[in-house]
Amino acid sequence: MIWWTRGLRSLISSDEEERLDLFRVFPGIRRFLAARHHYAYLRTAGDVLFIIVVVSGLFGPPDPERNFAVFLVWGLLWPAIVLSWFFTGRMWCGICPFPGLGIFLQRKGLSLNLPVPGLLKKYGVYTAVFLLALVIWVEIVAGLDRSPMGTSWLVLSIVAGSALLALLFTGQSWCRHLCPLGRISGAAATLSITEFRPDHEKCRGCETFGCYRGVDGRSGCPVYLGAYGVQNNLHCLVCGHCLVLCHRDSPRLLLRNPYSELIRNKGRYITCTYIVPFLIGSQLARFLRHHELYARLRDLLSLSDPFAFSLLLVTGFVLILGIIRFGTYLFGISEDPMFGKFAPMVPIFIPMAFTGELVHRLDVFAGGLGDFIPTIGRQFHLDVLSGLAFHIPDFPVQIMSAFFMLNGAIAGSYILWRFCLEDFEGVVRLGNFIVINLMIFVLLIAYLAVIF
Ligand code: SF4
Ligand code: SF4
Repeated sequence: MIWWTRGLRSLISSDEEERLDLFRVFPGIRRFLAARHHYAYLRTAGDVLFIIVVVSGLFGPPDPERNFAVFLVWGLLWPAIVLSWFFTGRMWCGICPFPGLGIFLQRKGLSLNLPVPGLLKKYGVYTAVFLLALVIWVEIVAGLDRSPMGTSWLVLSIVAGSALLALLFTGQSWCRHLCPLGRISGAAATLSITEFRPDHEKCRGCETFGCYRGVDGRSGCPVYLGAYGVQNNLHCLVCGHCLVLCHRDSPRLLLRNPYSELIRNKGRYITCTYIVPFLIGSQLARFLRHHELYARLRDLLSLSDPFAFSLLLVTGFVLILGIIRFGTYLFGISEDPMFGKFAPMVPIFIPMAFTGELVHRLDVFAGGLGDFIPTIGRQFHLDVLSGLAFHIPDFPVQIMSAFFMLNGAIAGSYILWRFCLEDFEGVVRLGNFIVINLMIFVLLIAYLAVIF
């Protein structure tokens, strides 16, 4: 069978045996990831980009119409990262510049190299989700996405957090346990069309565990997994670091059905349990904030914008959390003797949560793209660039957004159907099955109402 038909089959098949190993079909991908200098180049390019953003933000004009750093971060970089989740999972984290300073300090021997404490392993996830909520809240309330200086301080504070943990602990403990962007990327990566996994047949009997421990003075996996320990897309950075450490050529990059991991995980991971309702609630609040109705209500109640938005954000989060709880009640089961507690509504809503994030970021991208080059012109006094301004009309962007959201809703229904036909056959009552589908539909309508 030719590779592309096998590729198509792996995207739609629910049989894990059908997954296509991209390293076998395209050995160049494996060679690229294994050649560490390629990663070094990419990381250096990322570091330079961040330095430019920070310098421009701190020392450039405070007006976002005259400082390109703001749109570069919020309009180009962040939407590109969000889009990459759907194709390459957490691969962005492999080249992310945030841990660069910490890695540099560790290489200079400035780390205490302590083992990661149990407290961080256990509660890091809650802190990371809280930090993510804080970033989204501050982005809107403090107008971070319009502030060059604020953007720079956000970048610097994440670099500082990462460097502090690198000074204390071995490896990239920030990336594994505390990074808010890493958490959201990990949760989103669970619906990526690719996954990095070991070939367990090849790992059987391995005595070196080089992928985890390191080999010949080369350190092991930076996030304490190693290829053999990768069971889902939540934590692996797809950095390729372990490719050269494995003497049995075990790691694979598989093309897969993007919903297979969500169906297998069944919402067992705490990361998604809180990120999903927060994202959906915050997206509805973020879109609603641009509506006339929001302005009218805010004026009617004499509320300040930060307070009104915070209220909307909390209401959205609590509402979606309530919907998820109610859906779980209708589903009829949330604990299994084999794999313990789970939240079936979380994987059902994950596609909408992340397509919603993509739609919101595309909105920012489309809204500011036409003025990006003129902004560079205004910042560097190149008047000739101001003639390159253009405007992307709202309607095509809204139609594309609606199409993405429709896909997210269909994916949620598909996951519910697969639950009811496979693992939970005979568990969900027909009436409840219909109501859960209706809940997905109502959420879709709510998204479309705030997008248009
Ligand atoms: S991935 Fe390679 S090094 Fe790691 S356990 Fe498997 S065979 Fe051993
Ligand atoms: S398992 Fe391999 S690819 Fe994944 S983070 Fe660890 S070293 Fe990188």
